[in-house]
Amino acid sequence: MKPFAGSFTQQEALDETVIAAAADVLRTGRLHRYNLVKGEVSQAARLEQAFAAYQGARYCLACASGGYALAIALRAAGLEHGEGVLTNGFTLAPVPGAIASAGGKPVLVEITEDMVIDLDDLERKARTSGARFLALSNMRGHLADMDRVTDLARAHGLILIEDCAHTMGAAWNGTRSGNFGLAGCFSTQTYKHLNAGEGGLLTSDDPEFMARAIMLSGSYMFYERHGAAPPAEVFERIRLETPNMSGRMDNLRAAILLPQLDRLDDAIARWNERYRAVEQGLAGVEGLVLRHRPAAEAYVGSSIQFRLPGIAGHAATGFVEDAKALGVDLKWFGADDPAGFTSTHHSWRYVAAQSLPQTDHVLSSLFDMRLPLTFSIEDCRQIAAIIAHCASKRVLARAS
Ligand SMILES: *Cc1c(COP(=O)(O)O)cnc(C)c1O
Repeated sequence: MKPFAGSFTQQEALDETVIAAAADVLRTGRLHRYNLVKGEVSQAARLEQAFAAYQGARYCLACASGGYALAIALRAAGLEHGEGVLTNGFTLAPVPGAIASAGGKPVLVEITEDMVIDLDDLERKARTSGARFLALSNMRGHLADMDRVTDLARAHGLILIEDCAHTMGAAWNGTRSGNFGLAGCFSTQTYKHLNAGEGGLLTSDDPEFMARAIMLSGSYMFYERHGAAPPAEVFERIRLETPNMSGRMDNLRAAILLPQLDRLDDAIARWNERYRAVEQGLAGVEGLVLRHRPAAEAYVGSSIQFRLPGIAGHAATGFVEDAKALGVDLKWFGADDPAGFTSTHHSWRYVAAQSLPQTDHVLSSLFDMRLPLTFSIEDCRQIAAIIAHCASKRVLARAS
């Protein structure tokens, strides 16, 4: 079998419009978002306006990272030190990290075989934990039944904050991911849907919440220089009671994000073509289970996951090694020790240990792969063929 030669960590190069936008900012020397000449609107403020419009949210704050957006969202929403925050038992490390940095205690909720939060376990824990917050992580771009999530949040008085690092541009029944609760948190880190190296965007329709978030981000009382912020009188009420937790976005990052945002929908279409090419290549492989994508979910296929139910520890590492030998980088979430981006709740030792047998069971057979836009459709077909080949080898080994 011919090995695949592409790189799973290589995103597309940024084009000349992005380079020109960066050069324009560099020529001014005004990289700090509040450093303006008379009449100027900063690139950071422009990005806030443009993203609020894209998202269909009243307000937007550009900040330092997706994890940072989540931490200040919790804080602006009124999280008190030591309070519980419900969140997915399977998510990326910045999510429990953001909860801890805001002084909260993650209350981990089981996930289903579809990799989304288990709504029965959520209901149970909403009842028994007394938590007031739900930091819902749309991990790897998978949306739970958002109608049920919002019903549940309403029934239990939970304040919903969505982690949309992998669902920027996604929707459930026509409503954009990030618009279901108090706030949506987005990342512009290199491996997400817009690439500024690092960066975060926080959206909300709630004026006092957003005023607090802007103050928290370190606005030095320059809140009137924001692009999609509530009116000044909202800030008047809270401006002296909100600590400065510096985490602003700079004009260089904002400038390189703006042209990318213009083309986001096109990028999403290209991701989904690639996703479907891999999905098609894996459909029907014996013993391999793909997520069934609900009709209500408009997703962004920037990565793909599948399960090989029943695969045991050494067989899973063997499978990853076989794929690696053929040039395909898979991540496996069942390993005891985290590597790269694969940490699980067992390795978040600052969080009180919690028993999540269902999540552990799902993770023990879950594999994950990025789909950068540098891959062609032909590449995606080849990758799927390699995975199918390696998976069949495991099935044959088990049968013999
Ligand atoms: C990337 C990511 C984040 C935030 O990442 P930052 O590196 O802090 O921008 C949050 N949640 C999930 C699920 C992610 O994948």
